[in-house]
Amino acid sequence: MSRIVYVNGTYLPEEEATVSIFDRGFLMADGVYEVTSVLDGKLIDFAGHAARLDRSLRELDMDSPVTTEELLEIHRRLVAENAIDEGLVYLQITRGNPGDRDFAFPEPGTTAPTIVLFTQAKPGLADSPAAKKGIRVISIPDVRWGRRDIKTVQLLYPSLGKMMAKKAGADDAWMVEDGFVTEGTSNNAYIVKGSRIITRQLGNEILHGITRAAILRFAREAQMEVEERPFTVDEAREADEAFITSASAFVMPVVEIDGQVLRDGTPGPVARRLRELYLDEMLKAAV
Ligand code: PMP
Repeated sequence: MSRIVYVNGTYLPEEEATVSIFDRGFLMADGVYEVTSVLDGKLIDFAGHAARLDRSLRELDMDSPVTTEELLEIHRRLVAENAIDEGLVYLQITRGNPGDRDFAFPEPGTTAPTIVLFTQAKPGLADSPAAKKGIRVISIPDVRWGRRDIKTVQLLYPSLGKMMAKKAGADDAWMVEDGFVTEGTSNNAYIVKGSRIITRQLGNEILHGITRAAILRFAREAQMEVEERPFTVDEAREADEAFITSASAFVMPVVEIDGQVLRDGTPGPVARRLRELYLDEMLKAAV
């Protein structure tokens, strides 16, 4: 079934949606994005995604073509028009089409940003079979650029990382820099030791996950101990539990790291509890 998508102020069938070949998102990966999940037809943590989008745009000196209120309205209309009960809304804003290819940014005020949104239906997103089984990860070097805190559309290396994982018979890859895990290809990474949750501190080295912020808040509210510091793959292989978080996976248990099985190869209690807490709390607050 054809989707209704949004491009630069217009709602139209996906087959009719186009962006210029000169768009800097296409030519230079000069764009940012957000992915917001939908449960029960409602947006999960829209405010968090909107705030991070603003920050990404600001860091790249890029204008937003819409206000946060307009953005919420566009999200809601796409969810309604495409009858999304469980799924995702993808949003991308680029520096637009200056009419030619040039490394230098267009002069301020001369080029309208491009904005595109579309939905992805994902029935069973919350009740995911993978969450019951857990996933397997491998470690790979992190060779991405130094501003991973900006959510840009430069996703070639994360995409290669997923393919490396697939080839190795795993589900995802954790990236390692200077001996320490940075994050997963499209998620933040955590280990659990006893009842302590350990995850890398915020900085330019990782994306500031919206799900990460919520999970750490819920964990602290539930009197769970949280330690924000780097950890090595060896430490992870010896951990009691591991998991990842993202807007599309929520909390996903990790049961194997570089071939080392954690626990008995099944999701641990901390990851399971955090997933439940997250889904309960975020559904209550969904818009
Ligand atoms: N790190 C990276 C590299 C990601 O791509 C993502 C998901 N886009 C995340 C972390 C998780 O962020 P969020 O919880 O906001 O989806």
